[in-house]
Amino acid sequence: MKEEYDAIADLIMRARKVVIFTGAGISTESGIPDFRSPTGIWSKFNPADFTFDKYLVNPEVRRMTWWRYREMKVWEIEPNAAHYALVDLEGMGKLDCIITQNIDGLHQKAGNSEDKVIELHGTVRHVTCLECEKRWPFEEILRWFEKGIEDPHCDECGGLLKAATISFGQAMPAKETMEAEERARNSDLFIVIGSSLVVYPAAYMPVFALESGVPLVIINREATPMDHRATVVVNAGAGDTMSAVMERVK
Ligand code: NAD
Repeated sequence: MKEEYDAIADLIMRARKVVIFTGAGISTESGIPDFRSPTGIWSKFNPADFTFDKYLVNPEVRRMTWWRYREMKVWEIEPNAAHYALVDLEGMGKLDCIITQNIDGLHQKAGNSEDKVIELHGTVRHVTCLECEKRWPFEEILRWFEKGIEDPHCDECGGLLKAATISFGQAMPAKETMEAEERARNSDLFIVIGSSLVVYPAAYMPVFALESGVPLVIINREATPMDHRATVVVNAGAGDTMSAVMERVK
């Protein structure tokens, strides 16, 4: 593994605009299960039961969705070594941005600047009204649950509430998606951390970087469909790998 750590460190030292692309795998060491690992969320639930259309019409789907988000307890969860390594990267002036598929807000909690993090799939840090777009911090809606409200609706317009995440079947956020594509194409190093690279359109981001001749690094416990196109692949934990790499860069 030492050779791969050296190679990634070398690429970072020569880069000025590093784009990091993160998936659920960067947060498993903080205690949040991913989707597709053998113990991941989809080993317990069927993704087809959690589409946006079903959320709109089925109170039981909403109840289960709120339950899953409440079980994540993101407000109690702490970032891990991999998140903190990215804070160091920003401190060194090397980080162009983090494009994340994660909804847990752990990059910002670790200390990366809000304007360096592009959330492609939204966030559970907020809840939004699907009618009037009023927003609340998730913790505030938690208090509604504690009062016994199981299917919360907007206190102003009566619209349906939903965590500010992008569910299956919901449109991707246009501004974030366009900005992510532009930054991927204009980067000089693109590093994937903890993503199976099978969820599209998010998984186009490394492809955009490759199309511009940008070297690709993949750090993921399991093989991904893009490994053969990467300059360096590390099949190991994100925390140990990023700590070892940043030790060399410092
Ligand atoms: P995924 O579940 O499809 O893939 C995660 C990958 O990370 C797997 O290939 C796994 O081998 C790898 N992995 C797990 N732990 C790792 C570790 N410690 N170090 C390195 N690699 C590790 O997740 P994805 O590619 O992000 O795509 C699925 C969707 O999951 C995204 O849309 C995202 O919104 C959603 N999701 C997010 C969270 C979160 O916010 N933390 C949690 C679950 C799912």
